[in-house]
Amino acid sequence: MPRRVKAQVVVIGGGPAGMASALAAFENGARPVFLLERGEYLGGILNQCIHPGFGLHLFGEELTGPEYAERFKEKLSRTQVEVLLNTTVLEITPQRIVRAVNPQGVWEFETTRAVLSMGCRERTRGMLRLPGTRPAGIFTAGLAQYLVNIEGLLPGKEVLILGSGDIGLIMARRLTLEGATVKAVVEVRDSLSGLLRNYVQCLHDFNIPLWLSHTVTTIQGKERVEGVVVSRVDEGGRAIPGSERVVPCDTLLLSVGLIPENELSRQASIPLCPRTGGPVINEYFACEREGFFACGNVVGVFDLVDYVTLVSQGVGEAVNIPTAFSPAKYHLVPGDGVSLVIPQKIQEGKKGFLFLRSLQSFRQAAVSFSFQGKEFHKLRVPLCYPSEMIRLNIQDIPWPSQGGEIRIGITGERIRGIY
Ligand SMILES: Cc1cc2nc3c(=O)[nH]c(=O)nc-3n(C[C@H](O)[C@H](O)[C@H](O)COP(=O)(O)OP(=O)(O)OC[C@H]3O[C@@H](n4cnc5c(N)ncnc54)[C@H](O)[C@@H]3O)c2cc1C
Repeated sequence: MPRRVKAQVVVIGGGPAGMASALAAFENGARPVFLLERGEYLGGILNQCIHPGFGLHLFGEELTGPEYAERFKEKLSRTQVEVLLNTTVLEITPQRIVRAVNPQGVWEFETTRAVLSMGCRERTRGMLRLPGTRPAGIFTAGLAQYLVNIEGLLPGKEVLILGSGDIGLIMARRLTLEGATVKAVVEVRDSLSGLLRNYVQCLHDFNIPLWLSHTVTTIQGKERVEGVVVSRVDEGGRAIPGSERVVPCDTLLLSVGLIPENELSRQASIPLCPRTGGPVINEYFACEREGFFACGNVVGVFDLVDYVTLVSQGVGEAVNIPTAFSPAKYHLVPGDGVSLVIPQKIQEGKKGFLFLRSLQSFRQAAVSFSFQGKEFHKLRVPLCYPSEMIRLNIQDIPWPSQGGEIRIGITGERIRGIY
């Protein structure tokens, strides 16, 4: 028989999003609050991120991932939030029955509010359909980070990295510091995917080449990777015949994007957004199913953990706001130059944050808001990169009095290359 528990709030996933939302829910009077984490420790992906760069916005200081996580663990330990570790949520029903399993057995929580904060996972070779043999030595960058930083294992000695996202850039430096040779970082786009500061600190400072407009076209090797064929690509991302070169290496790291972890959300019949891969939410981060909230990378991939914490604290407050699930007045749609908009729905436009990501890198950029084909608001952004979210205060936008669809576009002078 499962242990049956009634809860006011159950938070699923104990990363920075889950910790901040559970803490804020408790501080705002919710009782009892449960925080369920499948891992041995709270902190999520932060535990393996031993590099600095966390907390600049929130704490005004540069912390490592574990140091950032520690601040919230410590605060949680001074509350009565019931933290269950080694506890994997297997199922959530649309009626908010949360089924989980841990060494004590099977649990069934009946909860008034469920907060989804399961984070995201990495795209793999299969998703890219990379041709070639299937040898050992192909890792996602986050897995390599786990092996080096948590297990103390070096995944390879001669490494090629596909994708110039932040995890790949950070791993290029990490592996170099551990004695491996990183041959190059290969990027299919004509501009950098990760943060500029990570390019400077992780590639430029270590003389690691970045090959833009290139991709991996074949993997060679029988038992272990022996080499990777890299080709130039045209404007459409197609490999250019005759441009192939073989890079001898024993390891290929893939840093080619993250996918919000939403299998549980689907089970609960929560509508998902095709652009973000996460639940459709409003400014309270309330989903389009009564009683469910979502926060952090499960909603869409955030660039900075500080923003994850900010929105998750908002969710912890919103669990007690009865109108959080009222119908939305505005429906936000990504227009030209925009890859994603979070949140997608807005009730009144009086609170919260709006996050945008551009599709390309622009200088002298303009973000434009249109209603019924007419622009009603425009703001300038000097530099704008797909890797860096644009964060706006929702109440600063002069929303039209009539509700409906709002299209958001970004234009500017295209940046090709690194900056
Ligand atoms: C390599 C790397 C480098 C980064 N560098 C920086 C940086 O320098 N600065 C910065 O600000 N940000 C950085 N980030 C981003 C930051 O780490 C994320 O924004 C943040 O961790 C997202 O928090 P989250 O809680 O949404 O997800 P996560 O941290 O992924 O936490 C999700 C948690 O949910 C748990 N979970 C999932 N499914 C279940 C389930 N079914 N049952 C129970 N538990 C479950 C997982 O075990 C995990 O603990 C980096 C990220 C990575 C991967």
